[in-house]
Amino acid sequence: MRKKYVYFFDEGNAEMRDLLGGKGANLCEMTRIGLPVPPGFVISTEACIHYFENGKKFPEELWDQVMAALARVESETGKKFGDEERPLLVSVRSGAKVSMPGMMDTVLNLGLNDETVETLSRIAGNQRFAYDCYRRFMQMFGNVVMEVKKDLFEHALSDLKDKKGYKYDTELTPVDLRELVDTFKGIVKKESGQEFPSQPLKQLEMAIRAVFESWYNPRAITYRKINEIPETLGTAVNVQTMVFGNMGENSGTGVAFTRDPSTGEKKLYGEYLLNAQGEDVVAGIRTPQPLEKLKDELLEAYDKLAGIMDTLEQHYEDMQDLEFTIEEGKLYMLQTRVGKRTAAAALKIAVDMVEEGLIDKKTAVMRIDPSQLDQLLHPCIDPNADFQVLTKGLNASPGAAMGKVVFHADTAEEMGKAGEMVILVRWETTPDDIHGLVQSQGILTSHGGMTSHAAVVARGMGKPCVCGAEEVKIDYASKSCRVKDVVIREGDIITIDGTTGRVILGEVPLIPPMINEDFRRLLAWADEIRKLGVRANADTPEDAARSRDFEAEGIGLCRTEHMFMAEDRLPHVQAAILAKTDEERAEPLQKLLKMQKEDFAAILKAMNGLPVTIRLLDPPLHEFLPNLGDLRVEVAELKHRGASLEELAAKEELLANVRTLSEANPMLGLRGCRLGITRPDIYQMQVRAIFEAACDVVEEGYEPVVEVMIPLVGIDKELALLKESTEKVIHQVFEERGIRIGYKIGTMIELPRAALTADEIAKHAEFFSFGTNDLTQTTFGFSRDDAEGKFIPEYVELGILEKNPFEVLDTEGVGKLIDMAVKLSRQVRPDIKLGVCGEHGGEPKSIKFCHQVGLTYVSCSPFRVPLARLAAAQAVVEEEREVFIDK
Ligand code: PEP
Ligand code: MG
Repeated sequence: MRKKYVYFFDEGNAEMRDLLGGKGANLCEMTRIGLPVPPGFVISTEACIHYFENGKKFPEELWDQVMAALARVESETGKKFGDEERPLLVSVRSGAKVSMPGMMDTVLNLGLNDETVETLSRIAGNQRFAYDCYRRFMQMFGNVVMEVKKDLFEHALSDLKDKKGYKYDTELTPVDLRELVDTFKGIVKKESGQEFPSQPLKQLEMAIRAVFESWYNPRAITYRKINEIPETLGTAVNVQTMVFGNMGENSGTGVAFTRDPSTGEKKLYGEYLLNAQGEDVVAGIRTPQPLEKLKDELLEAYDKLAGIMDTLEQHYEDMQDLEFTIEEGKLYMLQTRVGKRTAAAALKIAVDMVEEGLIDKKTAVMRIDPSQLDQLLHPCIDPNADFQVLTKGLNASPGAAMGKVVFHADTAEEMGKAGEMVILVRWETTPDDIHGLVQSQGILTSHGGMTSHAAVVARGMGKPCVCGAEEVKIDYASKSCRVKDVVIREGDIITIDGTTGRVILGEVPLIPPMINEDFRRLLAWADEIRKLGVRANADTPEDAARSRDFEAEGIGLCRTEHMFMAEDRLPHVQAAILAKTDEERAEPLQKLLKMQKEDFAAILKAMNGLPVTIRLLDPPLHEFLPNLGDLRVEVAELKHRGASLEELAAKEELLANVRTLSEANPMLGLRGCRLGITRPDIYQMQVRAIFEAACDVVEEGYEPVVEVMIPLVGIDKELALLKESTEKVIHQVFEERGIRIGYKIGTMIELPRAALTADEIAKHAEFFSFGTNDLTQTTFGFSRDDAEGKFIPEYVELGILEKNPFEVLDTEGVGKLIDMAVKLSRQVRPDIKLGVCGEHGGEPKSIKFCHQVGLTYVSCSPFRVPLARLAAAQAVVEEEREVFIDK
């Protein structure tokens, strides 16, 4: 059977994105619901895949099907390719399943040649218009299809203007444009070695091929990598009858959103240009008008558009981003798709749509990309800060950013990768700048509107962006820009505020933003849906308080080593480690006990009524002592300067001690419970501090909920032993204080052996917390510090690893161990509490896995708590809907 590769717009629908690409599927859907879409057809992504799988050949059936569809377009429009009376002109556009704005290629006005241009001129009664279309077509086709450099055409255009003494393109006469067309033909011939094709069918064939080819252009490849879009999808090709927005002052073209993509406010939002063609709006050559003005200029078209926008939103039940063209007063729809939006807008739109009865709460929860929530937790400028605003542009993407000014995407990439904070400053950005945008803290452009490339991309990436700051005069050659009389050079620091559009010279204090009402409501819905608990990893009372603000349900990991590192404690820690006898050790331990008690009391108070999992000391002792190499140098120096014998002896003893404690492989050495077993007094001190603190706060009227966690257990007897000694201390404290408090003792599962023998370990543990950082290290045999810097990026590049397993949980390996441990532990203790406290606890995909294997909670850094609450709810809805939510 012959395979179908070509779909007329009334043969598809919105569900067919895989096959017809997003743009194609939506053009079909709009046609299906009766909106004014110029006739056309879609060549499926399967044809593109076939093309690349078969040595860049079209499928055999393709051309006949294209011809049949073209015949239908001709009959519906009454126009014909190459016709002398009514020539058909088409646009040829790419369109993958997932929108990749500006990444692939488009050709407009295809079908023009020396004859049809004359006819067009006659029909339109406008020679200038016809020749302007023709030269634009040659420019686009020459560049996209025949791979002639864009600049050559641009230069020819400026040369001609210079020669004629013109300032604007609009001053070019039909005669000038005709001359330009001839020049362009010459350029194409010279650069490509081929004549510019005059046959419309030949043009069409070449354009289709070029669109397929654009799937693998460098910027599309980069974009796919950043956005994790599979290479295998391929692009569809949309061939559509041209309508003209440049037929005069009752024609125009624009882009619009059904709600404000920056704030989410329900209002018509967009920009348009009269007497212009599609690319003019986004290219930023002329400054577009806000959509409301269209009401005054072309009321009928405006009303029609407003009606269609409403229809589209009701139909798709989501905010739409659309493109339209008005040809001599008549409105045509050229595209609709789900609109990209900032996190703040996403929240507002989701919450409003639930209120409007358009969607339900579960759908609302699914509408927010958890990683986008980070945007809302971006810093903003401290309102109390004192600073002078240098200039203002458009508030294109919210949040504030500070960094060194750079003027080129390559520099931004280079400096960004070297760990510098940079702000990319450009006249306008293009898809070719994408690698620099990724590495910048924020983007400032001196041109372009709210829908310009920089604005759209920044919003998608959640980076602050100020656009169209026209006072910024950039001189790329000298790598500097001037704002009024201030000169800013590459490397100078500026702050931009994408929420207000302000640009400030120098550094300004930034503060974390507040969670607004929409945020709280949506998360409250997520809480109703989710089954996983969400706790925070917090080591200080401040972090604990922040966790509560973010509505964490407890602390899943309080690492106690950070308390040891504080300046006022380190000497006591060192004294305790270096003491030779129990008596000598008693004093520094006593001091530490007092300090730890204060730490724990403050945290327990902050978390009043909620569980706090306190982990006993984990890192090896030498981490608290001076560095071995430094000590060697110090000893040599003392010798060299003839220091006293006493001083030298003390230093040498310290050196010997550190040498004894230092390890070849500290990650696998004397740490965690091994330390607790071989140096029991430290753990005993910590347990005493925890429970004395708990008793203290009980006396103050608080309700502490304590969970003691023993790290790095690999053998059940380790835990049995430490549990016994821990309980002994707890009961001593209870006796002494005459208070009894409920508590739990549990362990971390961070070694493969612990997971494999989880049933044995569970006999002694009331809870497990999977320490997926160490479990990943020990399962892979990767030392994180070495692997992430040295070879994981290459492994990902080569496809050996899909993702860095320290960021996204390796469900196949590490996940299998977790799943096994969950099942084994529940066999012996069905009510065991199971959590995750490695960094994966704050990563959406990993959270989904935690839900699937039936964990009790995830624990992550306080700022990730909102994200985790949302991701946990999405895991439930996804399971219910059994759909894979793709990006
Ligand atoms: C872990 O290993 O996952 C963990 C939480 O412990 P740490 O990162 O402190 O080793
Ligand atoms: Mg660990």
